[in-house]
Amino acid sequence: MPLYPFPGGLRLPAGKDTLPPFAVCPLPERLIVPLGPPGGPAAFCRVAPGQPVRRGTRLADPLDAAGAAVHAPAAGVVAAIGPRVLADPKAPVRCVEILVDGTDARETLPPVESPFDADPAELLQRIRDAGIVGLGGAGFPTAIKAGTPCRHLIVNGAECEPLVQSDDTLMRRQAADVIAGARVLARITGASEVTIALEDRLTAARAALAEALGANTDLRIVTVPSIYPSGGERQLIYSLTGQEVPGGQPATAIGILCQNVATVAAVWRAVRHGEPLTARLVTVAGRGVMRPTVFEVRLGTPFEWVITQAGGYAPDAARLLEGGPMMGIAQPHDAIPVTKTTTAIVVQTTSETAPAMEQPCIRCGECARVCPVRLMPQQLLTAVRREDWAQTQALALRDCIECGCCSHVCPSHIPLVDWYRFGKAELDRRIDTRQRADRSRALFLGRTQRLEREQAERVARVAARKESLAQAAVVVTVETPSAPAAGEPSPAPSTAPRTMDKAAVLAAIARGKARKAANPPRPAPPAPDEDA
Ligand code: SF4
Ligand code: SF4
Repeated sequence: MPLYPFPGGLRLPAGKDTLPPFAVCPLPERLIVPLGPPGGPAAFCRVAPGQPVRRGTRLADPLDAAGAAVHAPAAGVVAAIGPRVLADPKAPVRCVEILVDGTDARETLPPVESPFDADPAELLQRIRDAGIVGLGGAGFPTAIKAGTPCRHLIVNGAECEPLVQSDDTLMRRQAADVIAGARVLARITGASEVTIALEDRLTAARAALAEALGANTDLRIVTVPSIYPSGGERQLIYSLTGQEVPGGQPATAIGILCQNVATVAAVWRAVRHGEPLTARLVTVAGRGVMRPTVFEVRLGTPFEWVITQAGGYAPDAARLLEGGPMMGIAQPHDAIPVTKTTTAIVVQTTSETAPAMEQPCIRCGECARVCPVRLMPQQLLTAVRREDWAQTQALALRDCIECGCCSHVCPSHIPLVDWYRFGKAELDRRIDTRQRADRSRALFLGRTQRLEREQAERVARVAARKESLAQAAVVVTVETPSAPAAGEPSPAPSTAPRTMDKAAVLAAIARGKARKAANPPRPAPPAPDEDA
């Protein structure tokens, strides 16, 4: 199969020369389980404090299609529910805190007996119910991505960041699950082509996959050069197909579905064994930990506990990262929990984190040369520093995958990625503020229009009533007829009402006035003369 080298990228020392030991991380005393992604909607919580749960009990339902179900990672009792700051500090996330009881009682969904004959809609629903999201770090709900038909499924095992070996370990230990999960996803999406891609240095993982595949040819295993960031979704798709995913669009827009190997294995376990997503593999590495290990960790386990299982911090440990050394996010403390998107916990030492003195940009162009997205990092830096948000958008800041290549090569030690993260957060904040302002404006306009409409209706009702009163017949009961003329017999008094229209009433009033004028009131008699 021909490969297409993507632009830019770096050959980095991988730090993966030896296979790290694998261990199942013991259960901590408490688990902190987020109900949604940072900055995203939290799922609808189905439990309350004091409620006992088992491993696999559904804790929360997604609020919309962009969410994912959440399950209890271990048996215990719900101790508290409230907001917590996680590794991604965008915004606090509502979390369920579980006091672990140690029984590890569990509940599962009914297994799908014949997954390769099952209705794709049923399989998709199972993925949704099991709360499976992209385990490569993106965390996007798998059911949404897999719900789009595609022609080519790419299973991403090209774990390109230095030190991180979670996917490598998974492929070696669960190769059969990866192969079976890929077949399930191919059935759901209708993909006729399935490729499992991994870096060329992962020879043990490749051998395990080849053994699990046997003589079957419905999937192919392809190795890609170990050039960082070959595991980026867009870079991997380009390497394998020569196709570029249009900016701002998902890969499914060009008929390709790309899923991480761990996600694919989780799909199989959910479908065939009815297992909700309650644990994941996490690499604990870096010179700052005593015994680097790949752990199977229950979701919600605090970093502190996991690092303790890896022998604790080295004496010169200086910086804690959630993620690998290139794309990881520095953490101020280790009381944050492992989530569905935690691929690695890396601890760096004092010597690795010694701050280099930042210098002015010398316009060497190195940052643009290594950028795998063909951005112009130097211009982007200027735009973000000036807070010229229109320009940052024109320079496609959002297409930056935060790979860190530009910062890594910058001879002036400018923390370019930090600036881009700040710029993206600011753009998000501005969009959020604008959306909130638009919503408020729409509400205000709606209220004003409603009040105006009600006022107009009231005026119209009053006018209509006046009109109907003016036009309606007036019913008058006349009890005293006018005096008969001299010599005429007095008519018998009538008690029957007489109906008179308005003209008749006016005529009667006029007659009354005429009579009054003809018979003016007699002058009052003179006052008696008191002296007489
Ligand atoms: S690599 Fe650094 S110094 Fe060179 S152009 Fe880019 S920002 Fe400027
Ligand atoms: S961090 Fe962004 S701008 Fe820098 S090299 Fe990577 S994609 Fe390009």
